[in-house]
Amino acid sequence: MASGERAVVALGRASGYEEAELRAAVEGALDALGGVEGLFRGGARVFVKVNHLSPPSPPERAIVTHPHFAAAVLSALQDLTPHLTVGDDLHPSAEDGFAVSGYREVCSRLGVRLVNLRETGFVRVPVDGAVLREAYLAREAIEADFVVNLPKLKTHSLTLFTGAVKNLYGLLPGGLRVAYHGQYKGPEEFNGLLVDLYAVIRPALTVMDGVVAMEGAGPAGGHPRPLGVVLASRDGVAVDAVACRLIGLDPLAVRTTRYAHARGVGVGDLAAIEVVGERLESMAVQDFKLPPLPAGEIVGRAPRFLARWATSGLAVRPAVVGRACVGCGACARICPTGAARLSGGKARIDRRACIRCMCCHEVCRYGAIALRRPVLGRALRPLLRRPRPRRTGP
Ligand code: SF4
Ligand code: SF4
Repeated sequence: MASGERAVVALGRASGYEEAELRAAVEGALDALGGVEGLFRGGARVFVKVNHLSPPSPPERAIVTHPHFAAAVLSALQDLTPHLTVGDDLHPSAEDGFAVSGYREVCSRLGVRLVNLRETGFVRVPVDGAVLREAYLAREAIEADFVVNLPKLKTHSLTLFTGAVKNLYGLLPGGLRVAYHGQYKGPEEFNGLLVDLYAVIRPALTVMDGVVAMEGAGPAGGHPRPLGVVLASRDGVAVDAVACRLIGLDPLAVRTTRYAHARGVGVGDLAAIEVVGERLESMAVQDFKLPPLPAGEIVGRAPRFLARWATSGLAVRPAVVGRACVGCGACARICPTGAARLSGGKARIDRRACIRCMCCHEVCRYGAIALRRPVLGRALRPLLRRPRPRRTGP
């Protein structure tokens, strides 16, 4: 995207996940962008990437893109092409994750193919990125004619916000996602890597589910927050920027948006984004809860000689809530360093081995991984607040 380019984001309103109302809101947003006919050629093979964390993730917890939201977008796309595939990478489990979330039923009803990306494979692609030179990405996305991105509007304990750019991290194999958390620990590297991946895929369309968002300790441990918002654009970076403005957050405080904008991968500056449909100011909230500041951001703000001390003394860290832990082992399986393990049927975390990637917090569905700040960090809490939003507006 050339410097000086502008983006259009369509903003729609839906009071809940009733399918007829959602379909009207989604179609209204797509019409405001010129209609699906202007986005894809008829009969194209389209891969639809939803935000679907591993089970159990029932839709009412606001962890996954709601299946009725996906159904509304899929119905609109079916007017143009029958070749639709929906997917995400789910860790194998005794439970059928797609059944728990409602995707199994929705895709069966619509006659849309539904895949777990680890069953259809990954292909090596060269990457001319700021961090990556190559990546293994989901075959379904690479071989499709177009990718449609359906992120959920959520906070994220590691990256602050998870939307269109972060959602594509799920196109990597699960093992590589874990490895990258260990390999690219600094926030500059990790968020740069996310932008690298987004630049490779460049979805043709992004439609974000902000009908019920997640606030607080997202992407899985936060609380549902009804916003009633549908966002759509050809530019996912612009969708993230407008979504941040809606929740009272400076869009460029989110590294993925800032980096993508600076690299010309998308438009992250609200001044260069035209919002059509609903008025942004009429849907914005100012009390949306943010997650605590993670270790990497604190270290990034501290002088080099203080960085190590800042990490151990101030930073939020995962802690097991013993009474809530059911010993499922999901945290131990995903931990990139072996810091999380099971002992006596409960999870334990070795602080010395923990790199604070928050993967364990992300996968625990029992509220058994809390984010705690050490005593010193709590005492200095006012200094560690998240950057509060600037009242920037389009
Ligand atoms: S902390 Fe959570 S993910 Fe880990 S074993 Fe306990 S319940 Fe499972
Ligand atoms: S214990 Fe949790 S936060 Fe620490 S390294 Fe393992 S997965 Fe990451």
